Amino acid sequence: MTTPPSTSHGTFQGTDVLRWPVVGLLLRWRHFRTALQLVLLAVAVVIVVHGFIGPEIASANLATVLTWVHYRGLLVVALLAAGNLFCTGCPIIRVRDWARRLHVPTRHWPKRLGGKWIAIVLFAAVLFTYELFDLWSLPRGTAYLVIAYFVVAMGVDLLFTGASFCKHVCPIGQFNFLTSTVSPLEVQVRSADTCRSCHTADCVSGHRPGGRSTPIVQRGCELGLFLPAKVGNLDCTFCLDCVQACPHDNVALGTRAPGVELADANRRSAIGRLADRPDLVVLVLLFVFGAVMNAFGMITPVYRVEQWLTTMTGGAPEAVVLGILFVAVIVIAPIVVVGGAAVATRIVSADARSPWRITARYVYALVPLGVCLWTAHYAFHLLTGALTVVPVTQSAVIDLMGWPMFGEPLWRWAGMRPGKVFPIQLGFAIFGAVGSIGVAHLISLHDHPKRAVRATMPWAIAIAIITVAAIWVLFQPMEMRGVGFGG
Ligand code: SF4
Ligand code: SF4
Repeated sequence: MTTPPSTSHGTFQGTDVLRWPVVGLLLRWRHFRTALQLVLLAVAVVIVVHGFIGPEIASANLATVLTWVHYRGLLVVALLAAGNLFCTGCPIIRVRDWARRLHVPTRHWPKRLGGKWIAIVLFAAVLFTYELFDLWSLPRGTAYLVIAYFVVAMGVDLLFTGASFCKHVCPIGQFNFLTSTVSPLEVQVRSADTCRSCHTADCVSGHRPGGRSTPIVQRGCELGLFLPAKVGNLDCTFCLDCVQACPHDNVALGTRAPGVELADANRRSAIGRLADRPDLVVLVLLFVFGAVMNAFGMITPVYRVEQWLTTMTGGAPEAVVLGILFVAVIVIAPIVVVGGAAVATRIVSADARSPWRITARYVYALVPLGVCLWTAHYAFHLLTGALTVVPVTQSAVIDLMGWPMFGEPLWRWAGMRPGKVFPIQLGFAIFGAVGSIGVAHLISLHDHPKRAVRATMPWAIAIAIITVAAIWVLFQPMEMRGVGFGG
């Protein structure tokens, strides 16, 4: 059997961004993360304040505009251009670190709550409530959501050690972790030989310059990732604590082939083998089919389907109708499409594994498609509404200061016309499909070297089905709610 290239084993051969003249110096600066967190904390404060005191109109309030247009759009742009920079700059972790100066948690996250199950439930709940309550249109609701996020994260991380909230609870974090598997950068060791001769493992346990019995002056990886055994970007928040902690300056932020880690069957530090993680399998399915559902929720035909379901159920409440729709798209569709591909692969490649085991191996191939579908959706809002932040900020300044310090609001500023964005969306969908088929084929080359093409075919068909469905959704007439400021 051939082995797909592993991302973190052996000596690093890519380009190390940490060694670049200006960017490298900035990233290695001890207070880089804090500086980024303070900027995003200021943005979070603006969102909450304007959410409460600003106008109730979504397109005129910084809470809704910054959260549902700019934050989501820039999040995927950063992930695709570099890596998980929004976890790096997460303001919640800044506030948590301040709070931990007053109260240091001592409990470890309970083993029976391990994995991503809580985050999966919250991810599904956020998708569902977003559609049910039209969160994009509620400045106050958005402000409450931000506050709730801070409160829950504080509660979890003041009770449990490490980055328990990031690893097990945060739905945005799981979105970022999955998307970062196709990022071009990865935190990895520079030399495996240096790690082999290293006896302290400070990258994970923390740096103690005076030896084991002395206090930690720089924490190690809060996510429990031991650098020499780390593979890929899953569970990595790009915090760069390991860069500061390694006493041998042996950690790089290196370039790599995006997505290849999804085909890697090796055991990973703090994660294990991907195929042995049912929670990650479910998370990937929710991520991919949730992208289709989220886009479906903003187009006109969804209302016809909802009306039909309301009639069929004898006038059931909206929550029930939406629940039926969610079950159809994020439960039944994956079972049929992905389960069908697994059964077909079992037959055509004479694979003795159960359909579940085959699914657990190949499902990660769907991630590039999922990433590109989320990007196509968020890019639409970002590109059609990018400039709205200017007049809304001008208006917010008038609300707060009482006079037009930045001039009268330029309400005509918005962004690209929707028609101009459609080709970009189509490009993302096709690009994602090609990437997913490529990853599926890498998996086949590893698992079925003599029948690789045959083993890949069912997955290529499944990917094509999801892509066609998503493109159909992207090209449907859109509710006004979706244009420019959310949906
Ligand atoms: S502390 Fe540095 S040298 Fe030691 S194992 Fe970690 S990355 Fe390798
Ligand atoms: S400390 Fe852990 S989470 Fe942070 S960058 Fe290093 S490996 Fe990633």
